[in-house]
Amino acid sequence: MTEILDGKIVAEKILEHTKNTVLFLKKHSVTPKLVVIVVGEVEASAVYVGHKIKACKKIGVHSEVLYFDENISQKQLVGEIHKLNNDESVHGFIIQLPLPKHLHVQDLINEINPKKDADGFHYENLGKMFLSKHSEDLAPCTPKVIIQMLEHYKIDLAGLNVVVIGRSNIVGKPIATMLTNRDATVTICHSQTKNLSKHTLDADLIILAVGKPLFLKADMVKSNCIIIDVGIHRLDGKIVGDADFEALASKVKAITPVPGGVGPLTVACLLQNAVNSAKHFSNL
Ligand code: NAP
Repeated sequence: MTEILDGKIVAEKILEHTKNTVLFLKKHSVTPKLVVIVVGEVEASAVYVGHKIKACKKIGVHSEVLYFDENISQKQLVGEIHKLNNDESVHGFIIQLPLPKHLHVQDLINEINPKKDADGFHYENLGKMFLSKHSEDLAPCTPKVIIQMLEHYKIDLAGLNVVVIGRSNIVGKPIATMLTNRDATVTICHSQTKNLSKHTLDADLIILAVGKPLFLKADMVKSNCIIIDVGIHRLDGKIVGDADFEALASKVKAITPVPGGVGPLTVACLLQNAVNSAKHFSNL
């Protein structure tokens, strides 16, 4: 029978652990603070930001959302980032994506103090991941929680044939690195990959970060495969992932649902990163 990998259970576990760290910090008069930078008005972003602020309240983390006009210049935004870098009351901050097209995202992220980079997207934090699994402390959130989910469900990665579909800097490439750090044999596929099914049919574990609804079909996988679906889409009034869940759930060994899989975990990891930064800054 197919096992449904429940992200909410793992998220609760991460939030409980993070809440204990918050309580410990508060005993030492430190209250972690996370700031979210929002530029312009994007409907989906407003929902995601809402989830983040709600989670902060739930575990006692201070939070603030800074709203900027959609026409803000790169230089002005760099100035705002530097203010947050210098603000000792702020332990972690993120830039809510997507940004208006005139802004260069990675250049902005690279202006964040890497120790306050709660999303883990700064090149220094990305680079550290390549060294070993022991230097992934501020790694990108979504890949980091995929690893925590696999650990929670006791999925032994050593020697597994893993196919990662998607090579973005925030999901595909970092999760491939983290899986390699844990002795998996990893193949990265992308839009230029020839005969994708040849790779997926050989995979013990597939990580889907394609950004295309219902992309992975049942005839593309073997029956004892595990599927982690990062995709989130609204299709015909329903939230769906990159996997054709209905067809796959009766075939594979284990699969994450959408919603309720990777999504809730990413917010938990953001708080985990901010609280760990607060611990780091207070030398506790
Ligand atoms: P992205 O930057 O758009 O990257 C998509 C990747 O998929 C690219 O590498 C692209 O290849 C590849 N691709 C596109 N079409 C393909 C095809 N036909 N065959 C094989 N590969 C193909 O996406 P992302 O930022 O990584 O996000 C992926 C999905 O995850 C999105 O739905 C996003 O909303 C979701 N997401 C969810 C969370 C969460 O918390 N759950 C977090 C982040 C993202 P090329 O490189 O060749 O273009």
